[in-house]
Order: sequence, then structure tokens, then C-alpha cells
Amino acid sequence: MIGYIHSIETLAAVDGPGVRTAIFLQGCPQRCIYCHNPDTWQKNGGQEMSADELIKKVIRFKPYYKNDGGVTLSGGEPFMQVDFVIELLKKLKDEKIHTAVDTCGYFLNDKVKIALEYVDLVLLDIKHTDANTFEKITGVPIDYSMAFLDYMKKIKKPLWIRQVIVPGYTDSEEQIKNLLKLLEGANVERVDLLPYHTLGVSKWEQLGIEYPIPEVKPPEREIMIKLNKIVEAKYPKGADENECKRSDYSEEKYSKIHRTGC
Ligand code: SF4
Repeated sequence: MIGYIHSIETLAAVDGPGVRTAIFLQGCPQRCIYCHNPDTWQKNGGQEMSADELIKKVIRFKPYYKNDGGVTLSGGEPFMQVDFVIELLKKLKDEKIHTAVDTCGYFLNDKVKIALEYVDLVLLDIKHTDANTFEKITGVPIDYSMAFLDYMKKIKKPLWIRQVIVPGYTDSEEQIKNLLKLLEGANVERVDLLPYHTLGVSKWEQLGIEYPIPEVKPPEREIMIKLNKIVEAKYPKGADENECKRSDYSEEKYSKIHRTGC
């Protein structure tokens, strides 16, 4: 089967535990107002590749994955190409490679449930906890992501939760407390607050789409520290050699961290 691939990042250190290969797939049902990858929205864009071609590529880096590294499927929204994703995940598990999927949780159907059986870790991007604001940010109802989270709770899938901190939308203490409350009952290994950045704005211009929030600036470092303290009181970050990369709030350095993916 052929998949539509936006890009591949080898030796990535921020898309899950350990050293990983991140595969960014085309297609997304959401239209987030701060999306830094609008060029992934169309499912049939990017490069056409078979699952076997991808496996050949990622297997070259297997020695670097060691115990905790592996492959992360990101996007776009990977489950938009669910048949391809199932084939790819099965092949990765045949190779005994750790698998992670970075998703917005929009899709939950029988095929997605099958795909999840081959996923070791889900990186779930929760855009907001309030239904109205969620829809304002993403253009879609909150119900899909909430149903996905409920299913994660039911099957106890290990989760890394991500929330982008956007001034005026998600940068209040109340929002972070609501997020932590929402996660009760889930098998959450860590929660990452990702500072909003403007590095994707030029892509919107190139695509001829008006950027919805040109007035919004990245959050102040102090705000990130304050919000992270709330998270860390509940989900302390362990000793992790990649931690310094994940918690670096400068926009320039952050570009290396959050350059693609949700
Ligand atoms: S931020 Fe992620 S979920 Fe939102 S539109 Fe962009 S790719 Fe899709």
C-alpha cells in the first residue's frame, strides 16, 4: 500500500522517548488557527512511499533506538491514512521497534482501534478543554478528541499529553488545572506544555491562506515556567537526557523541537 509522506526526521529526540525516527504523514481533518504545518492538511500531498520503503529507511537507524527509542508517526493526523498506518505499525512491530503515534484524537473507529493495538505510546495533543474554545481553535467539535481520550482511559494506553500554550487561549492557570482534571483516570506518563510559536506563519503565506491570529505573540518565558510548575506538581519530569531540549522556551531553539507534528 502507498502512503503520503510529508517528511521524515531521523535521530529525532523530541517525538517520544529515546532516539527516534519521526515520520510525518499527510492529511488532517482539523484546521487549527496556529497550525505550523498547513502543508500537511491535504491527504494526497507529499511523497508517495510504500510501507516497505519506509521500513527499509527506519531500520538503518535501529542501533540508535536502543531500549526506549523507536519510530513515531506524526503529521498532520496519522490516522487519516489508517490503512497505511496499520500496515506500517505491524511491520514495525515485526521488527520489534517501539512505536508511538502523535495524534489530535479526531478519529476513533474500528480501524483506528486495530492500529492502536500496535502502538506502544500515544502522544495526544489536546487543544483545549472547553468545547467552545476547542472548536474556535480547531474548527471541529471537541467530542471526537474527548471520545478518543475516554478510549485511552479504557484501554490504559500509555500517554504523553501535549498542549500548545497560546496567549489568550490556553495560557491561564485555570486552563491547565482543567486539563489535569480531564486527565484523571488516564495512564499519563508525562504532560508537555509547548509554547506557541510563529515559525509556521510563512507556510500559510506560501499557501495563500490568511493566518488567523497574526496579533498573537509566543508566551512569555515566565508564563511557561508558572504553568509548568502546576503540571510538574502532578506529573514530575524524571531524569531525562532530552529534557533540556523539550523545556527550552526560546523560539529559535524551539524550532528544532516543534518544527513539525501537531
Ligand atoms: S496543529 Fe495538528 S491537528 Fe491542528 S491542523 Fe495542524 S496538523 Fe492538524
